[in-house]
Amino acid sequence: MLMQGKKGLIVGVANRRSIAWAIAQRVAQEGAQLALTYQNERFGENVQELATKLENPLLLQLDVTSDEQIDEAFNKLQKEWGQIDFLVHAVAFALKHELESDYIVTSREGYRIAQDISSYSLTALSRAARPLMKESGGSILALSYLGGEKVVPHYNVMGVAKAALEASVRYLSYDLGAEKIRINALSAGPIKTLAAAGISGFSHMLEFHRQKAPLKKNTELSEVADAGLFLLSNLSRGITGQTLYVDGGYSIMGM
Ligand code: NAD
Repeated sequence: MLMQGKKGLIVGVANRRSIAWAIAQRVAQEGAQLALTYQNERFGENVQELATKLENPLLLQLDVTSDEQIDEAFNKLQKEWGQIDFLVHAVAFALKHELESDYIVTSREGYRIAQDISSYSLTALSRAARPLMKESGGSILALSYLGGEKVVPHYNVMGVAKAALEASVRYLSYDLGAEKIRINALSAGPIKTLAAAGISGFSHMLEFHRQKAPLKKNTELSEVADAGLFLLSNLSRGITGQTLYVDGGYSIMGM
C-alpha cells in the first residue's frame, strides 16, 4: 500500500462530488490516515458524514481567510499527530458575478477575494505545514485549471488566481526543496462540482471538452484521484514545482 503509515491534511471537501473527497478516498484506500477540514457550519454535517467512511479521521473547521483558524488547525494537528506527510489544497472561490461577464469589469474586492482564497491560502497553509513536515519531508498538492494559463471565457478572475497559484507552486517548491518538501499542482479538466456550478456556461464547457479532448471524454473524479495519489506518494519523489494535466489531453490542442 502506497500510503501506509502516512498522515495528511485534506482541505476542500464540501460534499461527495468534491475533488478533495475523491483524493481523500483514494489515499485512504492506500492506507493513509486523514484529517479533513470543513469551511464552516454549513458544510460541517456533510463532511462529518463523509468522514465516517474513514478510519480514525480528524475533523477540523478551517476557513482559509482566517490566520487564527489556520493556526488553530495546525496546532491541533501538532498536538494529535506531531507531524504530517502530505497536504491537499483543493480550495477556490470567486464572487458569482465575477464569473458571468467580462474579465475587464472585475472589481478590486472581487479580485482580492479570489486571490486570497484561491491562491494566497496555498502559501499560508504550506507555511503552517512546514514545521510538521520537518522530520521526513512531505508532499503538497494544489488543484488548478487550464484557465490559469489560457483564456477560458467566464473563468475570468479565477483564471488569474490559478496563474498565481501555479506560480506559487514553483516558488514554494524552491523555498522548501532543501527540506524535502515537494509541491505540485494537478490541472484537471472540467468536472461538475459545487465550485464549478458557479461558472456561467459550465455545461457548454463540458460538452466542448468532450468533443475536443484527444481522449474524447470528460475528466472523471477517479482520474484526478489516481494522479493525486501519484503526486502525494513516494512514486513522484523526483518531481516538484510542476503542473500535471489530467484533462484527457485537452491542453495540448492548438486547433
Ligand atoms: P468543491 O466546491 O467541491 O470544492 C471547493 C472547496 O473550496 C469547498 O470545499 C469549499 O468549502 C472550499 N472553500 C471555498 N472558500 C473557502 C474558504 N474561505 N475556506 C476554506 N475552504 C473554502 O469544488 P471542486 O471542483 O472539487 O474544487 C476543488 C479544487 O479543484 C478547486 O481549487 C477548483 O478550482 C479545482 N478545480 C476544479 C475543477 C472542476 O471543474 N471542478 C477543475 C480544475 C480544478
